[in-house]
Amino acid sequence: MLLILHPDIDENGEEYHRTLEHLRALPRIELRTHVVQGQQQKLTEIYLLGDTHALDKSEIEALPGVERVVRISEEYRMLGRHKDEKRNAGFDYNGVTFSQDNLHVMAGLCAVDNQRNVEAMMQALAANGQQCTRMGAYKPRTNPYSFQGHGAGCLPWVFELAGKHGIRVIAMEVTHESHVEEIDTCLEKLGRPTGVLLQIGTRNTQNFELLKAIGRQQTYPALLKRGFGISLNESLNAAEYLASEGNSRVIFCLRGMKSDAGAPHRNLVDFAHVPVIKRLTRMPVCVDPSHSVGTRDAAPDRILDLAQVTAQGVVAGANLVLVDFHPNPREALVDGPQALLLDELPRFLEDVALCRETYEKRQRLWNAC
Ligand code: PEP
Ligand code: MN
Repeated sequence: MLLILHPDIDENGEEYHRTLEHLRALPRIELRTHVVQGQQQKLTEIYLLGDTHALDKSEIEALPGVERVVRISEEYRMLGRHKDEKRNAGFDYNGVTFSQDNLHVMAGLCAVDNQRNVEAMMQALAANGQQCTRMGAYKPRTNPYSFQGHGAGCLPWVFELAGKHGIRVIAMEVTHESHVEEIDTCLEKLGRPTGVLLQIGTRNTQNFELLKAIGRQQTYPALLKRGFGISLNESLNAAEYLASEGNSRVIFCLRGMKSDAGAPHRNLVDFAHVPVIKRLTRMPVCVDPSHSVGTRDAAPDRILDLAQVTAQGVVAGANLVLVDFHPNPREALVDGPQALLLDELPRFLEDVALCRETYEKRQRLWNAC
């Protein structure tokens, strides 16, 4: 059972105190409090875990601090979209709102290589009105002899360049909890010129200790990639790990499934699941066309497969597009062949905007009585 308390309730006040006193006295019920700080108000949610079937909903609703009570299913307790509830999804981070109702593009380098390329990328993003990017510093690689990213060494100049070009959020994969520490120490030292969205890669979707560590910290939101060889349910449970530890600022990212059936694409594109995730959970949904498709191939109409699958995701209501670009893909140390070029950025953004407009029109069409 989920209790939503009055907005901005005072934790030292009488209302809160009396409510908590009543709840703590309930037999065989464990309480978990969850505070969501939005731009306008602070929302306190209390989850009652255990034998809640016998509880009288209206009795709980009558407690002085309680605004609303929702009976929740066992699945995806914190991130799930439960029956009869329309809580707004999403969160604000460093001045950017991520939700199921809007759309951002995170274009950038798969892997940070040198300052020149990072600066060229950020300059192009700024010139095109973008506030988000992707920059890989810690790269999990199949082959142990492949380049694994510059790690902590590149963070100071990546963050400084981001600040210089007005980039507010960088999606950056972490493969170990020590990477979160390194990012945090560096940002703090620089006076937080930018923000980081902690990316959990497809190879780590079920790295439960990493999920718990990222879930325990509240400083950074997370972007969780779907596991490439597990069920959707298993990946959504992985997201729930983050929330159950305290961090419900989670974006769920589709990036294709490992299957020969996807060939000649790198993975079998799974963007048909965009609406499924929006209906099962309250998480914003991201699509990653680059790691799904993996090539720059195009049909005779000259539209790249990469742009086609992006369109499929956006037309279906995706909230974020994570996509590889590179100023000079031949120089790229990771995934050069799938990178879009900087002079393709305005066209790509325009295509995304067209698709978003179409989605909004479709939404109006299906909502008209
Ligand atoms: C990436 O986005 O850089 C990446 C490695 O993606 P994935 O975990 O989906 O393979
Ligand atoms: Mn990559």
